[in-house]
Amino acid sequence: MPLEDYQKKRNFDSTPELKAENVSNGESSLVEATPTKSKDMLKFVVQKHFASRLHFDLRLELDGVLKSWAVPKGPSVNPKDKKLAVMVEDHPFEYKDFEGTIPEGNYGAGKVYIWDYGTYHALDTDDMQQSSWILREGLEKGYMTFILNGEKLKGEFALIRFKKASPKDWLLIKKNDEFAAEIDISAIEAPGEAADQK
Ligand code: MN
Repeated sequence: MPLEDYQKKRNFDSTPELKAENVSNGESSLVEATPTKSKDMLKFVVQKHFASRLHFDLRLELDGVLKSWAVPKGPSVNPKDKKLAVMVEDHPFEYKDFEGTIPEGNYGAGKVYIWDYGTYHALDTDDMQQSSWILREGLEKGYMTFILNGEKLKGEFALIRFKKASPKDWLLIKKNDEFAAEIDISAIEAPGEAADQK
């Protein structure tokens, strides 16, 4: 889903969210300017989003944008918990740093906290170019496996697209490894969230 969708859904006069640079109004294709992106390792972020319904947004950097999934119940580190992850529009790379309040009346109104962040790579390589190639292919096939190096989420995860249901519906699954645990990790607050409540 191209960045135009991100742009169209938002009124940048009234939301503090970032405007996607290098993006046209949808009339023509993406401008060829090189977008900001990582230089050595791909980045990921999980934002906890207090929209009309609380959810977590998993965003994986790929090709200069953030591939994005809304995870209604939040990620799990228990391999038995398969979590629905609904693919949403790509977000600009810089959105990985967004934390703040989207005002009432705007798309996704509510508070956004960075719940987890770090680097990630494909299963068999941490080389950024090779990872990108493998992940791109996985995205198309509807079967992506990757290693997250976050503060909360670590180790191998898979995103698997449903075959028959809506193509936007994926499952986020923790693979069995040393970082798998039977804990409710989504119950842990985002750092900024805890600070706000003091
Ligand atoms: Mn969201």
